[in-house]
Amino acid sequence: MVPPTDTAEKTAKRKAAKDWSPAKSAELYGIENWGHGFFGVNKHGDVTVNLTDDNGTADISLHEVIEGLRDRGTHLPVLLRFRDLLHNRIAEINSSFRKAIKDVGFKGSYRGVYPIKVNQQRQVIEEIAEFGKQFHYGLEAGSKPELIAALAHMHDPEAYLVCNGYKDEEFIDLALNAQKMGLRVMLVLEMPSELDLILERSRKLGILPNLGVRVRLSTRGSGHWSESAGDKSVFGLSAAQVIEAVDRLKDSGYLGCLKMLHYHQGSQIPNIAAIREGATEATRMYCDLIKEGAPMGVLDIGGGMAVDYDGSHTNFHSSCNYSVQEYCADVVETIAQICDKAGVAHPNLISESGRAVVSYYSVLVFNILDVTSAQTTDKAPAVPENAPQNLLNLIEVNKVLAKKNLQECFNDAVYYRDQMRAQFFYGAATLRERGLAEAWFWHILTKISKLLNDLDEVPEDLRELSSTLVDYYYGNFSLFQSLPDSWAIEQIFPVMPIHRLDERPLNRAVLADITCDCDGKIDRFIDKEDVAKILPLHDFKPDEPYYVAVFLVGAYQETLGDLHNLLGDTNVVGVHLENGKPVYTHEVEGDTVADVLTYVEYDPKELVTKFRNFAEKAVVEGRISPKERREILDIYRTGLGGYTYFES
Ligand SMILES: *Cc1c(COP(=O)(O)O)cnc(C)c1O
Repeated sequence: MVPPTDTAEKTAKRKAAKDWSPAKSAELYGIENWGHGFFGVNKHGDVTVNLTDDNGTADISLHEVIEGLRDRGTHLPVLLRFRDLLHNRIAEINSSFRKAIKDVGFKGSYRGVYPIKVNQQRQVIEEIAEFGKQFHYGLEAGSKPELIAALAHMHDPEAYLVCNGYKDEEFIDLALNAQKMGLRVMLVLEMPSELDLILERSRKLGILPNLGVRVRLSTRGSGHWSESAGDKSVFGLSAAQVIEAVDRLKDSGYLGCLKMLHYHQGSQIPNIAAIREGATEATRMYCDLIKEGAPMGVLDIGGGMAVDYDGSHTNFHSSCNYSVQEYCADVVETIAQICDKAGVAHPNLISESGRAVVSYYSVLVFNILDVTSAQTTDKAPAVPENAPQNLLNLIEVNKVLAKKNLQECFNDAVYYRDQMRAQFFYGAATLRERGLAEAWFWHILTKISKLLNDLDEVPEDLRELSSTLVDYYYGNFSLFQSLPDSWAIEQIFPVMPIHRLDERPLNRAVLADITCDCDGKIDRFIDKEDVAKILPLHDFKPDEPYYVAVFLVGAYQETLGDLHNLLGDTNVVGVHLENGKPVYTHEVEGDTVADVLTYVEYDPKELVTKFRNFAEKAVVEGRISPKERREILDIYRTGLGGYTYFES
């Protein structure tokens, strides 16, 4: 029974909150669609991550992980890295290729390489070198610094070390010498002009290179990076250039060094049809290079395997319409068919998946600092004496507002509010009058949005309205530092609170970061059918931490980030399971204020000196006391040594 004192609205809200369950949250945020079995929701309403130790697997609450870190004094935002998820993905891709090879009766082998640029952090390279051993998983270096890092970590003579990118003499010498030391180095021609230098260094050092040639396909991938294949791509040799290179290799007696064909269709290719097409074109080229007399033997299909960020399993750019197993089966089958038709032996395969390997590995967690509600107000604003006509009109709109005239009333409210603003602009209304008109306007919008909730079908024009009635949740993070692709290419990542999932989230939120930049916000969210403009979140209670996480941020996000507003690297913590309990490792402290200032050429010591001189001047002039000088300088120094994010 409803207690008689309850208003109908309160009852409805309570009932709605009560009708809720963690399972409903799991469905609302789609965690089973994008979580790949790694992430879930437990019966207490926390997001969990599935980790493994010697005794088996356990679902660990992210909320407990974060509370544990806070107890240890680690501030948010924090980037959590789960090595188990990285291991799991490496194993999944390798075993999927093996299965495909077996199913198709393919004669070649598979060896993956990890492209360092996707996440260059040392911890990642170390994990890959260590865990990848069992699969002879190698590395792909796209620059000299990446090669230098690779050579320190990758010493498996069975694994490939693929050298892409622009190569100078030093790069080539390093690669050739590494080959001499027993590594399987492949030097890939990215541009015709590289050939002369490679041959020259090879003669000088007396080492025959294993050459690969990167070809530019006319088949374009689809998605954001489609330009990296296709005729406009800056990388790779065109068909004409490939033939030219083959002729030069023949003339110089080096054709026997051409062992590999490589292509890369671009990253995050959501459509399996594009992947099959790319493989078809490249395999045709591979077969013809054998007919030209090159030994070949290896086909490197590059990266591009996509991640289903929104869980929709479609060819939308933040999704993909295939699984890892389907990708492998399609690629292997296509290559086998074309080789068989051409009477060419099946090649050994290399793939360079980066995103698909590391995306799941990292999760960014931040706390909410504050919320500004849409200026909604249930309470009717004041009615002043001598109100201007436009304000009276607004009050009248409020009076007649009903379900059947929503659209009309909305249009009128916008009109009278704009009239009021125009009057203010020309000096015909005061700031107070304008403020009151805007308050009435929001009051009307609040009522409209409530009435909309009861409608089955929302009129087209009013749909926009519901996206203006959002609450801004201020998160302790920087989009530019931690989620650059969210800003740069409108990539969508799964975002959700990591606790309170047994409560129904009743607020319609947009996330703002702390850069105060109008681009520093997340207002596009995953949705099964479309892109959602709001994220359902719970009421924010200022005395209680509220944690939100962004998932699948292991690929490309960490090192593309910039120092927008001088917000630096976040704290990073590795988490794995031991005896059924989470263990924190690889704790890396994020940048201090002094660190980021140094990046832009300030000298922290000099800053202190300058500020101290300024403070001393204030003492001399009698503005502050010597004791105050000391206190202010202490604050300044502490600030320099502190975290760049909001410390609570
Ligand atoms: C970036 C890149 C990759 C990785 O692509 P993903 O889509 O992340 O798998 C592989 N190979 C080359 C040459 C690249 O430039």
